[in-house]
Amino acid sequence: MYNINNILRENIKNLTPYSSARDEYQGEASVFLDANENAFGSPLNQQFNRYPDPLQYQLKKRITEIKGVPPRNIFVGNGSDEAIDILFRSFCNPGVDNVIIVPPTYGMYQVSANINDVEARKVLLTEDYQLNLEGIAEAIDEHTKLIFICSPNNPTGNSINRADVETLLANFNGLVIVDEAYINFSRQKTFIQELTEYANLVVLQTLSKAWGLAGLRVGMAFASEEIIEVMNKVKPPYNVNEASQQLALEALSNIDQINSWIKETLTQRDRLVLELKNFDFVLDIYPSDANFILVKTTDANKIYNYLVSKGIIIRNRSKVELCEGCLRITVGTPDENTTLLQTLQNFK
Ligand SMILES: *Cc1c(COP(=O)(O)O)cnc(C)c1O
Repeated sequence: MYNINNILRENIKNLTPYSSARDEYQGEASVFLDANENAFGSPLNQQFNRYPDPLQYQLKKRITEIKGVPPRNIFVGNGSDEAIDILFRSFCNPGVDNVIIVPPTYGMYQVSANINDVEARKVLLTEDYQLNLEGIAEAIDEHTKLIFICSPNNPTGNSINRADVETLLANFNGLVIVDEAYINFSRQKTFIQELTEYANLVVLQTLSKAWGLAGLRVGMAFASEEIIEVMNKVKPPYNVNEASQQLALEALSNIDQINSWIKETLTQRDRLVLELKNFDFVLDIYPSDANFILVKTTDANKIYNYLVSKGIIIRNRSKVELCEGCLRITVGTPDENTTLLQTLQNFK
């Protein structure tokens, strides 16, 4: 049976979190001489002399309106990469515990594991990029704390079968992290609605992809209240800066713009698939639920280098297991996609 107390690190269980100046008073105040800030202001048109809200109250309120998840079930991080790192630091004892990753997948799970001196056990996806449930079951031992599933998956673009993820959620005694960085482009439903069903589920989303705010570094984790409490305890007190909180809040009122960009991206994705199929160096294009496509080619390195020489950068994934010969292409604007396709016409 999953129980957070069985997987939490002892030092985190016993941790007294940093208490910030603003945490220690309650009520209204107008004179703040408690945090050693510059009381005169900032040498800018906008004022950033005060520390930001450690728990991002306004931003979470807006996220609640959009996602239907109460603030107590939301963690906001300096990108979802920060949430990944905090999960390692909260639940994995360095040199002792392990996690399971299912390559080919997002590279940060392995890097975060390495930084935290935590073993990442690799259970390759199947040939059709789905979970190898038997392999995962064999890899799990009493020190396995986290399983990372990326759906839609980066770099393959497909969604992971929902029933398989639910099998893990129902049977694994640690946390199952479902990374939904690309969910806005997907035909599949989010796992957010399963939060009430599974206490060991963590759903990651980000404002870096569909929301167009990669430069602001804002990512979210949705999970049970007890998991969110731990993450808030472990995070740096002011992990999301004031400019990012304000701008993210403003951006989140422009849903119509985002939805129309998503629609356009899907149209352009279909167009790229249709037109790329005609090139004889294209062997296969994998079905995508994301804003990129994985394309199997006859000579990935040569195509990649040719495009670089023409000022077009795509991602060469040909050295990745199960992605031999593959290039990952992000869907661009109509003009960018035209440039890509026209440039490829001249590839010899
Ligand atoms: C891009 C991406 C992220 C984004 O991380 P941020 O730190 O929020 O920018 C997370 N997971 C996956 C799978 C990604 O591809």
